[in-house]
Amino acid sequence: MTAPASNGHRLAPQRRSKIQRRIKRAGLDALLVTDEINVTYLTGFSGDSSYLWLTPDKAILLSDSRYSTQISEECPELETLIRDAGRTTCDLAIEVANSSKALTLGIEPESLTKSLHDRIQAGCGCELTDTDGWVESLRAIKDKQEIQTIRHSIQIAERAFSVIRAQITPEQTEREIAHNLEHQIRGFGGTGCAFAPIVGVGPRGALPHGIPSNRRIGEDPFVLIDWGAKYNGYASDLTRVLVTARIPPKLRKIHEIVLKAQLAAIAKIRPGATLRQVDRAARGSIERAGFGKQFGHGLGHGFGLRIHETPFLSPIADGQLTAGMVVTIEPGIYVPGWGGVRIEDDVLVTKHGHEVLSRLPKSLDECLVDM
Ligand code: ZN
Ligand code: ZN
Repeated sequence: MTAPASNGHRLAPQRRSKIQRRIKRAGLDALLVTDEINVTYLTGFSGDSSYLWLTPDKAILLSDSRYSTQISEECPELETLIRDAGRTTCDLAIEVANSSKALTLGIEPESLTKSLHDRIQAGCGCELTDTDGWVESLRAIKDKQEIQTIRHSIQIAERAFSVIRAQITPEQTEREIAHNLEHQIRGFGGTGCAFAPIVGVGPRGALPHGIPSNRRIGEDPFVLIDWGAKYNGYASDLTRVLVTARIPPKLRKIHEIVLKAQLAAIAKIRPGATLRQVDRAARGSIERAGFGKQFGHGLGHGFGLRIHETPFLSPIADGQLTAGMVVTIEPGIYVPGWGGVRIEDDVLVTKHGHEVLSRLPKSLDECLVDM
């Protein structure tokens, strides 16, 4: 049986009523939720290809017959319309819109393709209005249950890493390590990796999103590993650099700069801190050390049901941190032809500050592996 995502069935009505109040405030008759993760969040239904029709006082899950049993297990209280093979979920949405006589309909522009948008408009004649991240901004603030699930997801990722670290040999390839990580994550109760792990030996660590290759651990003195688990629908996301030979002086220098920047940013995390301020703390620190140009990505991101979600910490981000957000803090320095250092931890914004949820050691000496 598929496990319900984060007890969504218990909390889903509360989440829905927040969105329903917003529909009313915006003067819309209804909202069609088409992002499948948003549907999961608002219903507890963990399948895909389904929409949620929401009005200020009604909620209807639009799905297909493959999911009938799963829906009755995961969200039995929810009114559901199951389409037959001759109709699409979009057809179902149009029928519901027509029978409810909705005149103004909110849509989620990020997930609704142009062609579906046009079909819905032509089919129901409603005035369609883009809604911007309504459900995403709710999802950004995690409740107790979600935080527990994320803690567990992080623990699984850390246990998996500790096992592959203990088993590392010079002959292993990047691909084998990525594969072993996935295997260990499943062994510890995760449903899989939160994303395809990044394993970059030596210069390959300079590619922030490199795909694991057949390069072997023994070919260079260090390896960058970025991985995460998925547990009950929730992701975790970590990065460490492991040293597999004598520590090269350049690595020691760059690692120290990245770690200092990461700690400076983490120290800024509290409710009310702006996303830019936190990014600035790390970026300023790396710039002062002379490596500003080698840190080309944002400082971090929220994660939960998706690996990347609101909020995003970057020099151009608007907004601020709120208690209940969980974000990664992952500064990095990448030197083409030499390698990259990124240190990534998962941090919860608490009422008065923060709690670093990930626990793996990160000083370079503690990342030295005996092979
Ligand atoms: Zn990562
Ligand atoms: Zn990340």
